[in-house]
Amino acid sequence: MHKYYIWTIGCQMNKAESQRVADYLELFGYQSTPVLQKADLVLLNTCVVRQSAEGKVIGMLGYLKGIKNSKPDLSTLVTGCFVDSDVKQLHKSFPHVDLFFKPGDYDALLNWTEKQGISVHGYKIGLPLTRSVAVSAFVPIIQGCNNFCSYCIVPYRRGREKSRLVDEIVCEVSELLRHGAKEVTLLGQNVNSYGHDLLTQSSLSDLLTELNNINGLFRIRFLTNHPKDMRQELIEAIASLDKVCEHISLPFQAGDNDVLKAMRRGYTVEQYRQLVGNIRNYIPEVALSTDVIVGFPGESEEQFARTLAVLEEVRFDTVHVAAYSPRLGTIASKEYEDNVPPELKKERLNRVEALQANIAGEIGSQLVGKEVEVLIEGKKGGKWYGRTRSNKLVFFESGSNCLGRLIDVTITKSSPWALQGEISIGDNSLEESKR
Ligand code: SF4
Repeated sequence: MHKYYIWTIGCQMNKAESQRVADYLELFGYQSTPVLQKADLVLLNTCVVRQSAEGKVIGMLGYLKGIKNSKPDLSTLVTGCFVDSDVKQLHKSFPHVDLFFKPGDYDALLNWTEKQGISVHGYKIGLPLTRSVAVSAFVPIIQGCNNFCSYCIVPYRRGREKSRLVDEIVCEVSELLRHGAKEVTLLGQNVNSYGHDLLTQSSLSDLLTELNNINGLFRIRFLTNHPKDMRQELIEAIASLDKVCEHISLPFQAGDNDVLKAMRRGYTVEQYRQLVGNIRNYIPEVALSTDVIVGFPGESEEQFARTLAVLEEVRFDTVHVAAYSPRLGTIASKEYEDNVPPELKKERLNRVEALQANIAGEIGSQLVGKEVEVLIEGKKGGKWYGRTRSNKLVFFESGSNCLGRLIDVTITKSSPWALQGEISIGDNSLEESKR
């Protein structure tokens, strides 16, 4: 039997897409191998968000060239953000690669497979799964980005926004549910743009409404949002649709208007605050997560202090912080000098993390003694674990099989990163407790 090996770096989108390619390959008779050298087909699913990530991809391509030299029958495929629109040039630079295909372009994969003499008949209209899937599954709904934030390479590599059809997504979610999923997270660089390019002009709220009607689906999440594109109708949809979790990722990146302008984010701090106020007005129990970049070119101490002030004021549940690093090919790398010293970037990053650890600790401690609904995703170190609707990780003990169930848990202990609890009604009545 032919074997495949998939190398993936980067975001959840890449992980979800690698899984989908693996599903296709298994349908075509391939079997997974954990050893690259034993594979007959190798796929690199690439990320180029940071210069260092692109360096890793080029390193892997070089490594693959060596293997292909000694094993000419090896099939080599590359997808992900490394694949830009100039595929001809990529083939010139890396002639040992058999197929470059854009993220999510499964037609290209199927066409190539057909040319290898493998029948793909029937698979072009949807992917039937042959494996069991995780309780919580990822579903890409839109590729690319039209925004051109000055520090970001994604629009140049992933290209313009391209939404998947509502029916196709509904089919995929139904198939995932048949194979064990209970929750889906819809993915896109900017999910708020979903559907504007479709003939039906569907929106993310339309899609959420469709998915909310699917029997057997417990929860729906989505990321990432763009503050300038988050519409009122979406906020109202989150508030009214029972399966859509009260958890919103809303990157603000910097707390100073001049820095935001240089980043080309398209909103001001005041507009961001107003948006948060509006969301909390409609969804009082909402959990917010955000992304922050520290040390953007020219960021002064005062400007950084404004970022800390937003963190203190909004009190996010989760903050992902990164130190700015210039990315070749972006507007910021051409126009701005990377003039915040690395030690200062590190210090600012540490200050954000320390502040957020305090805030997350306080938010977690407010849950002690409260009952929360947890969707159980697995078992680790003898304890079951899962997430609340607000995306908090909860651990608890039980002798019953809790996988994939919604269980009420009373929180007994908290830390900034996870909660510990006890089943609220006891193991014996677990079976009757929830859906
Ligand atoms: S919204 Fe900005 S940061 Fe996000 S993918 Fe698009 S350009 Fe990059």
